[in-house]
Formats: sequence, structure tokens, C-alpha cells
Amino acid sequence: MSNQFVDSVMEKVVARNAGELEFHQAVQEVVESIAPVIERNPEFARAKIAERIVEPERQILFRVPWADDNGQVHVNRGFRVEFNSAIGPYKGGLRFHPSVNLGIIKFLGFEQIFKNALTTMPIGGGKGGSDFDPKGKSDNEVMRFCQSFMSELFRHVGPDTDVPAGDIGVGAREIGFLFGQYKKLTNTFTGVLTGKGLDWGGSLVRTEATGYGTVYFVTRMLEARGKDWDGLKVVISGSGNVAIYATQKAQALGAKVIALSDSNGYIVDNDGIKLDTVRQIKEIRRGRIKEYVEEHPSAEFHEGWEGIWTVPCDVALPSATQNEIDESAANTLVKNGCIAVGEGANMPSTPEAVKVFLDGGVSFGPAKAANAGGVATSALEMCQNSMRLNWTFEEVDRKLKDIMDRIYTQCVEAADAYGCGGNLVTGANIAGFLKVARSMTAQGIV
Ligand code: GLU
Repeated sequence: MSNQFVDSVMEKVVARNAGELEFHQAVQEVVESIAPVIERNPEFARAKIAERIVEPERQILFRVPWADDNGQVHVNRGFRVEFNSAIGPYKGGLRFHPSVNLGIIKFLGFEQIFKNALTTMPIGGGKGGSDFDPKGKSDNEVMRFCQSFMSELFRHVGPDTDVPAGDIGVGAREIGFLFGQYKKLTNTFTGVLTGKGLDWGGSLVRTEATGYGTVYFVTRMLEARGKDWDGLKVVISGSGNVAIYATQKAQALGAKVIALSDSNGYIVDNDGIKLDTVRQIKEIRRGRIKEYVEEHPSAEFHEGWEGIWTVPCDVALPSATQNEIDESAANTLVKNGCIAVGEGANMPSTPEAVKVFLDGGVSFGPAKAANAGGVATSALEMCQNSMRLNWTFEEVDRKLKDIMDRIYTQCVEAADAYGCGGNLVTGANIAGFLKVARSMTAQGIV
């Protein structure tokens, strides 16, 4: 029955969503994990929960025209996929990157359903973005693009309907421009976006939350092996928001972070990455990671981002983008003695790589669980906006830590309950699915 169930769901998903490979990949993993849940809960099969959950509730595609600083007109595509609202308003980031297409947004939106359910907060799943590339654009160009994007998106979102946030290419600057345009068009000041500035409704810790959360989650994985971070060598891919704050927290807990990357290549600093330099380059100058070696000549820069996985380490935190660790990179990590992998990015390991880690005895924290701290803190930002209050850094950080602990426990318990103890991939998928499936069943055929 299990194989038959997986095949029949996947056959339809592939036929209906032709060419959307990342979406197929994300669905396949979840459907395989939940097959035994459907078998044990016939009411989910009767209500066709699996067949319904793979179909977005609503998909919005729109034209985003804008003019550059020379008056040239450009046309980008805008997306918002409102995937599932069974447990709360749609929630998930916006990604601005040239690789964005409908399949990418659907894979991200689908993952978000289960991730958001795991956070224990009342948030549904959604995702959006554009194939616009903020890299190399002036602040004014980015502002005009964001205003044009929101001129369409505003009619579909709202603090109780759909609450976007950032993702790759969408940070504090973009959220500011998007918020300003929403406020102007609707004449309302509401928590319609998260990741807002601290002076206008943002939450402390939101900037740090994804990276910190990933490290908190991996802390629990290490504890289960009788270890802590002290003295461990850590390789973190990426050098954006997730990578920077994962580095900060891992270093604070005594780890030695020795490598970071961007799409051009990676740096290795065996004395430990100097985070102030990285933040100066990435957050202030919006520069490239290779500039690091100009200030720290004993560090090395290597062309090609893939090579980062050849750097021997105890812990790897892939925090750049999807499918950045393939089977051969995973084999290299295992061969070099890596004992734990925590996914800071969304779906950074291919299915073959995940298998290598699980078979190789590596503790593996899947993205849905390990990087859920970002969206969980977005939900805490929504709470504060509703109450018109602000919590202190310590309060939000304590809540984030509690949430990451609860996510870890849910994954472990669900894996145990379904006879695959230690497999946090299956555990995360099952625990996230159960909450959404129960809610969908209770709410009828909608
Ligand atoms: N883009 C982040 C994620 O992948 C955060 C989404 C949010 O805060 O809504 O979970």
C-alpha cells in the first residue's frame, strides 16, 4: 500500500506540475515519509488529505514593470503561492533571485507548510518572490521594483490573510520599501510583513533567528551524541543572513567556524572566521566574500562554491541555497569525519546526499526543522504587533530556544512513534503533517 500510495500521488504531481523538479523533489520526500501515517489513519485517506495538501490553495502570478536609473524599462515576474491556511494565515518569505520560477516558489511554499506547523505557532504556509536580481542595483532601483511588486501584491496579503517576510535577496532594505508601499496603498499600519525595522514594528532577534535557531537545533543533535560545540570545526556555506548569525552563535558556544562562501567561491580561515569583517563586507558594503582575504592575508579564497564541502569539519551547516550538497559532496563530508549536518538553507541537500548522511551515521537536521527559527520568530513578531508591545532581546531569544527545543522533541517523538528512531527527516515530515492533516480534516472539504 505504501509504494502504491506514493506512486499514485507522485504520478499526478509530476503530470500536473511538469518540469518543476524542485517541487517534485520536496513533495516526494514528504509523501514517502507520510505513507505510514495515511495507512494508520484511514480518515486522512478518505478526506484525500495528501492529494489536497500538494495542491496550493491559490497561486498568484503577476507582471512587475519598473524603470532603472537610466530610464530603461524592465519587466520581471512576481509570484505568491498561498499553499495552505489550515492552521493560520499564509506565512513565508519572498525570494528575489534570477533563478526564481513557479517551481522554486512552490517547493519553498510546500516546505513552509510543514516547517510552520512544527514551530508550534499558528501560521499556514506560503511563499513568493520574483526573478528580479537586487545584486548590482542601486537603492532607488530596488525601491522602484519593490513598489511595483507591492502595487499588485497588496490586494492579496494582510495581517490575518497572508504575511510575507524575507528570504534570499530580500532583507531589511526590501522589507522597508515593500512595507512603505503597502501602507501607502491601504492607509493601514499593520503587521502585514515580518522582518520589519526595530523602529517600526520589527522584533528583536528576527535578524539573528534563522542562524541562531539552526545552531540551537544542532545543539540538541550534538547532545544526543554526548557532545557540545566546544572546539568543534564548523563549515558554513553562504554568507548571507543565515550564515552570518549561525557563525556568530556557533562561535559564542565555543566552535571554530573555518569556512564561508558565496556564489563565486569560498574562504577558509583556519584561525577562525573574523565575523566583523564578513559583516562589514556583506551587510554594509554589499560586497563579495573574496574581499575577506584582503584584510586577512593568511586566509585563502578558492573559486567555485562547491569546493567548500571538501574542507574537513566536524559540523556542516549548509546555509546558501537548495541542492548545494550532492551525493559526492556528502560522501566527502562523511569521509572527512563530519558528525552532524544542520540545514540552515531550504532543501540544501539532494535526496541522495540525505541518504549518504543517514546511512553514514551522521546526525542530520533537515531544513524544515533546523531552519524553522526564522519563521518562528516572524510569528513572534506577529504576536508583538497584535499586542502593540515589544519584547526584550532576552525574552524573544528564550522563546526561540524553547521553540527549537520543542521542534527537536516533536521530530524525535514522531520518528520513534513510526519506528524510524533517529531519522529526523521522517520525524519532521510526520510531526508537521499530522498537525495540518488533523486541522484540514476538522475543517471539512474546503
Ligand atoms: N524565508 C524564511 C524561511 O524560509 C522565513 C519566512 C518568514 O519569516 O516568514 O522560513
